[in-house]
Amino acid sequence: MDINIITPADATYEEWNSRGVNLRWKGQPSGIIPVTTTNELQEALQYAVDNNKRVVVRGGGHCLENFVADPAVEMVIDISRMKGIRYDEQMNAIEVTAGSTLGEVLEALDRQWGTLLPAGQHPAIGMGGHISGGAFGFLHRQHGLAADYLYAVEILWVNNERQVEKVIATREENDPNRELWWAHTGGGTGNFGIVTRYWFRAAGVKEHDPSLLLPKSPEVLETIEMEWDWEQIDERVFKQLLDNFGEWSSMHGSADTKAGNLFATLYLLNKVTGKIMLKAVLSDCPEETAEEFAAAISAGLGITGRATRKPMRWLEFALQPFPDIFVEQRAAFKVKDALLRAPYTHAQAGIIYRYLTTHTDVPGGAVGVATFGGKMNAVAPDATAFPQRDSIMATACNVGWIDPADEAKSLAWARALYQELFAETGGLPVPGGQSGGCLIAHPDADLADEQFNKSGVPWHVFYYQDNYKRLQHVKRKWDPLGIFRHALSVEGV
Ligand SMILES: Cc1cc2nc3c(=O)[nH]c(=O)nc-3n(C[C@H](O)[C@H](O)[C@H](O)COP(=O)(O)OP(=O)(O)OC[C@H]3O[C@@H](n4cnc5c(N)ncnc54)[C@H](O)[C@@H]3O)c2cc1C
Repeated sequence: MDINIITPADATYEEWNSRGVNLRWKGQPSGIIPVTTTNELQEALQYAVDNNKRVVVRGGGHCLENFVADPAVEMVIDISRMKGIRYDEQMNAIEVTAGSTLGEVLEALDRQWGTLLPAGQHPAIGMGGHISGGAFGFLHRQHGLAADYLYAVEILWVNNERQVEKVIATREENDPNRELWWAHTGGGTGNFGIVTRYWFRAAGVKEHDPSLLLPKSPEVLETIEMEWDWEQIDERVFKQLLDNFGEWSSMHGSADTKAGNLFATLYLLNKVTGKIMLKAVLSDCPEETAEEFAAAISAGLGITGRATRKPMRWLEFALQPFPDIFVEQRAAFKVKDALLRAPYTHAQAGIIYRYLTTHTDVPGGAVGVATFGGKMNAVAPDATAFPQRDSIMATACNVGWIDPADEAKSLAWARALYQELFAETGGLPVPGGQSGGCLIAHPDADLADEQFNKSGVPWHVFYYQDNYKRLQHVKRKWDPLGIFRHALSVEGV
């Protein structure tokens, strides 16, 4: 069978090569192979291996780091046209082809069976790269992570004889490939082969009815948006706001919280943008939870903010959440995130305040703080490969820029802020105490770079903690030749 290889000489090359959303990275592969079926994908991968090409797969193009777009990558296999969502009777699970986007999956689930997968926030993310990072989103406090619903996964892997093979791994206790399934419940992307299909079903469901396999779509969904003008915010108000958010997250972060169906993010934007915003989603939430939340966040601020509440249908929200935040605008960006087991201290809030008010030449710099915990903390740290099951918040130092001339100062801003925030633990959120490590779905290659990681703690501890050894064994078995690799890939033992 002929393989359709798009080379730099082809008119469509640039279009295929620039699918990544983070303009910080640019690759120049000698070939890009778009595939639409598993057979085509298998042939493309075999071709790359036979020709000794450094190969990676691209799905939705939402990688934060240079795992796909990188000058060292020689061949990209593009699976963005490999789509499909159906009920698989034999597996009694919802089967999702890896090139589907999250939005396509949420739409099919809701329209056909009135269900949802509690996955990420951006509908354009590709499922192939998303699920194996754990996949948190608007509803993980209510339902857990999407990876907690993973029943099975199909993978193309490369054996010791350099032959591409297909394997299915399930969570069944007696499945000899169970460890490979486990590795895909939070063990990161681009590590063990190419995922072709995922199957989803909540643990413990016995009924053979596709509408009972996953959580029901919320009957009532409401958004709360709050906004405060920076003009009115001094350091006291800023600290009070962060205190309020931290206290609420702390009080409602346990696995059995009654407020698990409320998720919120505080967007602490640079002062030059004029405002600070909070966006919350409430699904099937009692009225008093919404009121108590809004009151708790505003307590003691002493300034007047704006608040709007809007009822929406779940799908309407999921396909276009908060359009002023989730614009599909391509830009260069860097994300440095951390999980928090306790709220920011006043000293840390003061550092954030300083970076947002004095570095006016980095308008794209912001700090996000989101409520975590809830149901995602009901799972044991080793039951899936995603170990961070005791955090109450996630936070991120984000910076975006359009003009390449702004790159150096933007990166310096995010790195310096992060370093100061976690100065007590060597400049990084070392797991233990206040910090809970980092999310592999938001990879930050600085953690593996001696220039930026002076904590003495290896990069993999931040992402995988005690699960790393197990992932290394999976790596040795299913990628014995180390074909699948990038700046933060699991190393076989
Ligand atoms: C705007 C934005 C919002 C986000 N929001 C969330 C969120 O709410 N929750 C969350 O958990 N994450 C979120 N993420 C992170 C996202 O889950 C990861 O970046 C994910 O890896 C993206 O997958 P992709 O297929 O879109 O990206 P790609 O760039 O195509 O791939 C990303 C990585 O996955 C690998 N990969 C892709 N497909 C496969 C496959 N089939 N088999 C094996 N490896 C594969 C690639 O080789 C690469 O290493 C967000 C990212 C962005 C940019």
